[in-house]
Amino acid sequence: MDDTEVRTHTALHVVKGAVRKVLGAKWTASTWVSKGHGRLTVQLDRKPGESDMKEIFRLANEKIVQNVPVRVETLPREEAERKYGDEIYDLFPVPEEVKELKIVIIDGWNLNACNKPHTSTTGGIGEIEMDDWRFRKMKNLLEISFNLKDL
Ligand SMILES: [Zn+2]
Repeated sequence: MDDTEVRTHTALHVVKGAVRKVLGAKWTASTWVSKGHGRLTVQLDRKPGESDMKEIFRLANEKIVQNVPVRVETLPREEAERKYGDEIYDLFPVPEEVKELKIVIIDGWNLNACNKPHTSTTGGIGEIEMDDWRFRKMKNLLEISFNLKDL
């Protein structure tokens, strides 16, 4: 991952936090990053409105402007599960043989077991903008694409 992709990847955590707040979507089904383009796919049982999507990006950019820390806690898997529950996991499982987890924490916003590199604060991401979104009704999946604005 180059610096741009580290920013885009970190933005996934921020966008997910906003998706959790606005739509209540808990489970990430997949993520994808290429340069300044990112896509987050979450499980959702209904089609959101355009205003929901705008609100997600308003909140995400607000969290970026707040420039809060992106902390990483490394701890034994069992302890992480005891402390944080299944909120740290995604739909795609962490392999069973992994016994130590890095928990990426944006306080009050997002928690996720993730071993990829991140910016140290949300401000390091820079402004993002929604590219596109679509709801796949048959699969109950919401796909959200975005771009880093300043490339
Ligand atoms: Zn991550």
